[in-house]
Amino acid sequence: MPKIKKNDITKIMTGKDRGKSGKVLAVFPDKGRALVQGLNLVKKHARRTKEDQQGGIIQKESTIAISNLMVVCQKCNKPTRIGFSALSDGTKVRICKKCKELI
Ligand SMILES: [Zn+2]
Repeated sequence: MPKIKKNDITKIMTGKDRGKSGKVLAVFPDKGRALVQGLNLVKKHARRTKEDQQGGIIQKESTIAISNLMVVCQKCNKPTRIGFSALSDGTKVRICKKCKELI
């Protein structure tokens, strides 16, 4: 079970965006990386297309190592380590190690 899932709010712990948080747009478990909205932006040169008449330089998210991200618990509103637990029916769930609430 992955620690980080799409739509989680995460905080980046290292690099130029350290301390910023954003929503997970995509996770690439085989690479151990994730794409987070608004974080680790890189400038890319865009070609002019029919949809984008301006072209030029655009900013786009690039992936971040999952080990540099912490999930922000929606209950206690803090970046936290993720624990795992199983419900009575066997469903595995993620819990906040700080407040023990489900994430
Ligand atoms: Zn919590």
